[in-house]
This record gives sequence, C-alpha cells and structure tokens, in this order.
Amino acid sequence: MILLTKYSVVVNKRLCKGCGICVDICPRRALVMDGVCSETGYRNPVLTGECIGCKICMWYCPDQAIVVVER
Ligand code: SF4
Ligand code: SF4
Repeated sequence: MILLTKYSVVVNKRLCKGCGICVDICPRRALVMDGVCSETGYRNPVLTGECIGCKICMWYCPDQAIVVVER
C-alpha cells in the first residue's frame, strides 16, 4: 500500500545501527523496524504509517542516519 502523505523519511543504511530509537520515539508510531537486516547486518526502520514531518526521529537518531523529506 502506498501512503500519500506529505512527508517521508530516508534512512542511510550505511549509518543506521538499528537501535530502534526512532521507532520508539515517533509520536505517530509511523516507523517499524524492517524484518530483515541490511548489508551492514543491522535492521533499519521503514515508514509504514503517516509521517507528520515533526523530525523528532531525525533529532534523536544517535547516528544521524534518518532524514525527513517533503514529498
Ligand atoms: S518525522 Fe515525526 S512523524 Fe515522521 S517518522 Fe519521524 S518522528 Fe515519526
Ligand atoms: S535511531 Fe537512527 S540508528 Fe537508530 S534505528 Fe533509527 S535510523 Fe537507525
């Protein structure tokens, strides 16, 4: 299903360490951890809900691995 929301997130899989902080802190519960690991061996967050563009995930990511973008 494609979500036609105004905002989305881009995850840099080379930087993401799969800590899950972004998933836990998102006020909309819009992120979930992917079920499979990327090439780095970590699971990465994916957007499955409505992102409101608050950028909290971006600010709290310890590895600066997630960026909020406007579609
Ligand atoms: S920008 Fe806000 S709503 Fe969107 S994924 Fe990040 S924390 Fe969630
Ligand atoms: S907070 Fe950053 S490092 Fe942690 S899972 Fe999210 S994107 Fe990856």
